This record gives sequence, C-alpha cells and structure tokens, in this order.
Amino acid sequence: MMTRGNEFSPKTRDENIERLEREEFDILVIGGGITGAGIARDAAMRGFKVALVEKGDFASGTSSKSSRLIHGGIRYLENLELGLVFQACTERRRLRRMAPHLVRPLPFLFTIYRSGRLSPRKISLVLWLYDALSLFRNVQRHRMLAPERALEMEPMLRKEGLLAAGRYYDCSADDARLTLLTILSAHRYGAVAINHASVIGLLKAKGRVCGAQVHDHIADREFEARAHVVVNATGPWVDEIRHLDNPQAAPRLRPTKGIHIIVPRERLLTKEAIALTSPRDGRLMFVIPWGRFSIVGTTDTDYNGDPDQACALKGDVAYVLEALDAVFPAAQIAEGDIISTFAGVRPLVREEGVAAFKVSRRHQIMVSPSGLISIAGGKLTTYRAMAEELVDEVTGLLARECGTCPRRDCVTDKVPLLEGDMGAALAELKLAEGEGLVDEETMAHLARAYGPDCPRLLELIRQDRSWGGRIAEGLPYIKAEIPYAVRCEMALTLCDFMVRRTRLIYEEANQGLNQAKEVAGIMASYLGWGPEEIERQLALYRKEVALTRTYRQ
Ligand SMILES: Cc1cc2nc3c(=O)[nH]c(=O)nc-3n(C[C@H](O)[C@H](O)[C@H](O)COP(=O)(O)OP(=O)(O)OC[C@H]3O[C@@H](n4cnc5c(N)ncnc54)[C@H](O)[C@@H]3O)c2cc1C
Repeated sequence: MMTRGNEFSPKTRDENIERLEREEFDILVIGGGITGAGIARDAAMRGFKVALVEKGDFASGTSSKSSRLIHGGIRYLENLELGLVFQACTERRRLRRMAPHLVRPLPFLFTIYRSGRLSPRKISLVLWLYDALSLFRNVQRHRMLAPERALEMEPMLRKEGLLAAGRYYDCSADDARLTLLTILSAHRYGAVAINHASVIGLLKAKGRVCGAQVHDHIADREFEARAHVVVNATGPWVDEIRHLDNPQAAPRLRPTKGIHIIVPRERLLTKEAIALTSPRDGRLMFVIPWGRFSIVGTTDTDYNGDPDQACALKGDVAYVLEALDAVFPAAQIAEGDIISTFAGVRPLVREEGVAAFKVSRRHQIMVSPSGLISIAGGKLTTYRAMAEELVDEVTGLLARECGTCPRRDCVTDKVPLLEGDMGAALAELKLAEGEGLVDEETMAHLARAYGPDCPRLLELIRQDRSWGGRIAEGLPYIKAEIPYAVRCEMALTLCDFMVRRTRLIYEEANQGLNQAKEVAGIMASYLGWGPEEIERQLALYRKEVALTRTYRQ
C-alpha cells in the first residue's frame, strides 16, 4: 500500500484545498471526529480517493469530550444490549493491538453498597457476562473482593455499607489523540483532509448529492468540492447536514449531554478507576485516574442547544459531586477543588419514551433519496467497526453507480494506526533521559502521546535544548510539542494546541491562561501571526476557558 510522508502542516492543508477544488473524489466525508476519521482511513486504505472536511479542529466535537474509555460498556448489559457489548469488547481488543501506546488497560473497582440498587450477586453475574463477551480474552478475568480487601486497595472509599467490589478491566485512551492518529493514518494512505473548513451547502446534479460547498475559515473564502458519494459523519450535527440535503427531513438524533469534572489526583487519590452509582438515580459513573488528575463523570441529559456551546452547569456539577460524596465522603470534594470541566454531546439515534441514559448507543446508517449517507450513534470504541460497515455500503454504491471498485478489502484492524518501532523509540527516550534532555515524567508522556514517533520530538530538542523545557510547571508537556503540532499535526489555532494536541486547558492550575501568551508567540512564528492575530487567538482561548467555567455562575 502506498503511504505518504509525515508532514501534516499548514502547507499540506493549502495543497489539500487546491486538490479539493481541482479534483473529483470517490468519497467526501463531512466531519473530522472519530467517526469521520475512521471512515476516511478505511476508505483510503481500500484504495478509494477520499477527502475529509472538518469545520473546527479534528476532534473538536464530541470526540475530545468523552470519558476516554475504550470499553465494552458494562452499563449496557443492564439493558441487555449483548450484541453492542460483544462488538465493543472485540473492538477494544483490536484497538489495543492497533495503538498499544495510546490504548492502555485500566483496572476498575466496581463498588457495591447496601444503599445501591445492585447486589454483589448481580454484579458478579454481570462481570462474568462481561468476561464471556470478551471471549475470556480481556487483560484479566474479573474478581469479586470482600469489603476489607476493597478498602485495603482503595482506603478512601466509604466503609459503611460497602458490601463488596468487583475488579475488572477496560482500557483508556486520549480521545482527541486517537482521532488525530486516525486522521494522520488516513492522510498517510492518501486521504485529503482539512480542518477549519465548514460544509455550508450540498451540491446536487440530477437530484443526486455530488459534492459540497465549503467555507475555509482560515482564508475566509468559499470553494466547491466534488465527489461521487458524500458521507455525513458530523455526530451531533448530523441532522443539520441532513437538512441541507432535505429541509423537510425529520430529525433522527436524540442528542444528550454528558459532563466531566477534573480534580487533582491528590484530592481524590485512587489507585484504580472506580465505578460507582449515583445516589440520585442509580446511574453508573466513573472516577478515572489520568496522570496527576482524576476525571469524574458523567451525566446524561437531553440537549438541544449548539453542541459547540455545551458546558457543565451548576446543577450538572452538583450531581457529580453528590455521587462522589456518597462514595468518598472523607475526600470532601467541593466545587473549589475543580480545575476544569468539559461537556460533550452524544449523537444518539432517536428513541422516544425512554430516559436519556437508557437510549441505545447503537449506530445507524441512513441513505437519503438523493444519496447522502449519514451515520449516527455509536461509540468512540466502536468507530472502526462502524467505519467498516459504512465503507462496505459505500463500496456497493460506487460499484453500482460508477463502476468504481476498491483495490482491497477492509484491513483497518490489521494495520497499526501508527507504524514504527516502539522499542527503538523507548530506547531513544531512555537515552535522552540519560543525557538530561527530558525527565522521567515527560518521557512517559511522550511515549504515550506520540508512540513510535517520539524520536522526531527528540530531534528538535537535540537541535535546541530549550525545546525540552516544560510549558507549565508540574505538567509533562514540553515546548517541542508546539512546532511539532503545527508541522506534523495541523494545529492551526491556539485552542487546537491547548485543548486537543495537549490538555493544558483541563490540567493546568489556571487552565493554561498564564502560558497561553508564550504558546501563542511560538505558534505565531510558524503560522505568520502578527500582534493582532495573537490577540485574537488569546481572546478565543479565554472564551473557551470561560465555557469550561460556566458552572461557577
Ligand atoms: C460525555 C460523553 C462520554 C463518552 N464517553 C465515551 C467513552 O468513554 N467511550 C466511548 O467509546 N464513547 C464515549 N462516548 C461516545 C463518543 O464520544 C462519541 O460516540 C463519538 O465521539 C462521536 O464521534 P463523531 O465523530 O460521530 O462525532 P464528533 O466527534 O462530534 O464529530 C463530528 C464532527 O463533525 C464536525 N462538523 C459538524 N458540522 C460540520 C460541517 N458543516 N462541516 C464540516 N464539519 C462539521 C464537527 O465539528 C465535529 O468535529 C462519550 C460521549 C459523551 C458525550
């Protein structure tokens, strides 16, 4: 298979726009979240000529605001969604193989209290079923623990009423980086992808959708992109694009909002992830250890606003704090402990008459009379399987309508997302640590974020040691990541870097506001920003930070 080089820069973007304007594609994917990224990668690997257009940054929608779990979805067993859980467990195994540096096993302790609605017997059965649906090939089989043993492992848990705990495994991964990695892989296989460009209209010929009108937000200009098949993978915006096709189209989504809070790990010290149930409605929630932080969530409420403006409100945060207090009363986590919050919108397939949290996570592919193919629902975990199913559908359509056939079948689960020698990368990191170029924490961060590609960052530090300096005290991010993000990851705005290439906005004590100016200054030298543009970028970043602080109002 032909693969392209590693550059994925503003120059790549300019070249891609030129190609989008000039050439006709087999498939145009709208949306650069995990779903669109997966579709572009799959189609490019099969040999189709693919383009992808993303209105914001890659993963700027729901795909950077999930619980960051690559999981079978233990919760869905209660609704007896065995097929979905089996598929997710299978995909979890595949993703571990495809991106081992990013998708890491995470042990969970499922706490069972007398006041809760789940008995140890029921949880034991559920965890056995979870193992069975993983074909007993998960990291380890589950174990039920007596309360004393659970408290030994997690001393901060409430002792009173603890009946037992179940220990099982899922995985976690940085969702924004998983999406970016998938986009980069699609790019290497020939997909033409751009960010910061919105589809604002659909082109039609003889009643069939044959492309899109695109607004490039960087150059502030419009152009047309043509393709035999247009795929709408816009997550919570799916109905919006369907309306561009047919203004009378009935809505097919039931969007629901989920929020998380981030607190310092030392305030909520757990060794492992904790599964707990909300005392208010019995919903399953998680405390997920994330480096020096704990991510706690989530909620599940109907949401009909602008997905870009979804945020944690006071009531959402109170719900999460109440659940924490019930299980970790000694920690006394309060609003003042929260560093930041984030909120995402699930693009669930419409179901009436059930509570938001009971709506199925199954995906659905819809083909409109004019040939627009839309995909809704699904999970971060199942994106590869969703893409395979959708590209199979597109393959049939292209064969029937244009006589175009793929060069090969789907191989997305057989090829790593990032090819390269992880062993050699780790050896280079160790060497760099020995030379005093990076410290141990940064080394671990680079390995996890960049995998086999981290020697490319070390190269920068070898040229100029100052690139090895940290961006913010107490966090492992280094300055070399700034030029790398611009040149190799198409970071075009300050928010792209602070929110998704790194997670400074969520992790830094003042949410990166003190570092933003320096980062913007460095980005400016690569992106040609003048003082006015730097100010504009800083203002946009402050707005993004303010959104994460809405709950304080
Ligand atoms: C709170 C929460 C927790 C979750 N936790 C997990 C979890 O732990 N594990 C898991 O497996 N799943 C989880 N999920 C589900 C998972 O995050 C989503 O299913 C997935 O991210 C959806 O991806 P997507 O690509 O379909 O949508 P998105 O990521 O929203 O991508 C759609 C993209 O389309 C772009 N777009 C929209 N309109 C246009 C346009 N006109 N032109 C161009 N581009 C456009 C948007 O900017 C956006 O980037 C969670 C979801 C939520 C909300």
